[in-house]
Amino acid sequence: MKNIAIFPGSFDPITVGHVSIIKRALPLFEKVTVAIGINAEKKTMFTVEQRTAWIQQVFMDEPKVEVEIYSGLTVDFCKQKNAGFILRGLRTAADFEFERGIGQVNRKLGVGIETLFLLTEACHTPISSSIVRDVIRHGGDVSSMIPDVVNNDL
Ligand code: ADP
Repeated sequence: MKNIAIFPGSFDPITVGHVSIIKRALPLFEKVTVAIGINAEKKTMFTVEQRTAWIQQVFMDEPKVEVEIYSGLTVDFCKQKNAGFILRGLRTAADFEFERGIGQVNRKLGVGIETLFLLTEACHTPISSSIVRDVIRHGGDVSSMIPDVVNNDL
């Protein structure tokens, strides 16, 4: 297993909270692979092509970041990519409780793969993709919550 982190999520759309976690993880890893999970049952606001393009544009000048699409178990994707780490962001106690279950199961399923958590910046605690989608649906201003490249396309 290599010093590569998989950062899994829906990124529907990527927010400044996600961007911050990825940037802070970069000094820790050889590579950070942002992995957009495809879940046929989950309806998304933006297509996977659009979500991928936005992340690629945000990290255009950062060769250590790559974007991939995957389905199935995150640990299987890690094995496929020879990645030793799953990166996740923690905002609140609710995030912790949710992540605890997934992290502990992933540890059983993916022996040798560690989940690493970074605490969000305080100013990013209230930001989530679902809140951003709600505000967009109702015509509100999301410019402080998403990267400029995303905002310019909306
Ligand atoms: P999921 O569908 O798995 O919840 P998301 O795209 O919503 O995927 O989030 C992916 C990861 O980014 C998760 O670890 C989540 O906790 C983290 N994250 C989401 N929003 C923020 C934020 N504002 N600050 C820090 N981490 C965040």
